Amino acid sequence: AETWNNVPLAPPDSIFKLTAAYKADPYPHKINLGVGAYRDDDSKPWVLPVVKKASQIILNDATLDHEYLPITGLSEFVTGAARLILGENSPAISEGRVVSVQTISGTGANHLGALFLSRYYHFNGDKAIYLSDPTWANHFAIFNNVGIKPLLYPYYDPKTIGLDFTGFIATLQSAPERSVFLLHACAHNPTGVDPTEEQWKTIADVVVAKQHYAFFDTAYQGFASGDLERDATAVRYFVSRGVPLLVCQSFAKNAGLYGERVGALHIVTPTKETADRVRSQLSVLQRSEISNPPSYGARIVALILNNPELFEEWKADIRTMAGRIIQMRKELYRLLTEELKTPGNWEHIVNQIGMFSFTGISEVQSKALTEGAHVYLTTNGRISMAGLNSKNIRYFAEALDGVVR
Ligand code: PLP
Repeated sequence: AETWNNVPLAPPDSIFKLTAAYKADPYPHKINLGVGAYRDDDSKPWVLPVVKKASQIILNDATLDHEYLPITGLSEFVTGAARLILGENSPAISEGRVVSVQTISGTGANHLGALFLSRYYHFNGDKAIYLSDPTWANHFAIFNNVGIKPLLYPYYDPKTIGLDFTGFIATLQSAPERSVFLLHACAHNPTGVDPTEEQWKTIADVVVAKQHYAFFDTAYQGFASGDLERDATAVRYFVSRGVPLLVCQSFAKNAGLYGERVGALHIVTPTKETADRVRSQLSVLQRSEISNPPSYGARIVALILNNPELFEEWKADIRTMAGRIIQMRKELYRLLTEELKTPGNWEHIVNQIGMFSFTGISEVQSKALTEGAHVYLTTNGRISMAGLNSKNIRYFAEALDGVVR
């Protein structure tokens, strides 16, 4: 028998498959709304000017070598990253209660966090985590890989194209005490629907009452509102309420460093003594998985986070990206409601936040957009707003109008 007879053929990743189909399409007005990466007004990837500047500083630094980083990563990077999400004046940081480890971008942070929980969290019954319905598809695989069973909590309500707040709260209340809930810190993927500040407070009340664990995933800080501080509000609020939590942080989108794999896992613990024990075991896990994280992207982000001038430039670059996306939301809304008078309510286009928008169109309509109009999107009706620009938005609005009419 052949050695790998038992290996079944897996289907290709749906997002990457979509990109391949888009690339193969010769139609000149084709649009790719599948990919979760920022594009400028010419549909091109954008290297942030501040990143170019930081790379130049690194290239010119004759003292830098290619030695291994410490197991837990570049310390200027992880401490800066912790301040960025938890706040400049975070008591958790000043009290030494935060464990920060550099990871292989947000995916690696999710994996390391999941692995740590699977080893050390006192699960109440089965090893399980509650994920929002829907969520980033990779969450299922990441938790399954470490033997944590993904369960779902209601999140998106197709009737309102908004948050199913009642269902969400009901599941927080009915779940066994000390359950683990994965929460998207801002700019929920794939829906673009976030709880309001008031709703976050109510969510925290129940999380505190039931002693749940909050597994925060933040891949879009700055991308939602254009303001790094504002997009960290939910995480900081939960820390201030004393909720036991961890944060998976990615610099792929907000620094445009996708392929450099820059991220961090932060675990907020009750005491410095706990933090020391947790850090020691995270080091052991990290050693066996990747030994040491990669240095190039971390050096870039460390420069940006620790140099006030570069940090200001980064904030401006983030406003450029978030601002263009918000502009596209407004323009799409205007085209649909004012010019084309497309049937239906399109408020959600401007109310949703971040890179993605759930249009509310059906699977059949999504497929019709791809097959009939060469607009590539996932069949759940999610569009990446970054794929729209001043040149293609009218074509897209007309195509969308065509399939819903
Ligand atoms: N978490 C969410 C919700 C995401 O949408 C993404 C990227 O699409 C990630 C994590 C991690 O991405 P990366 O590993 O590129 O940082």
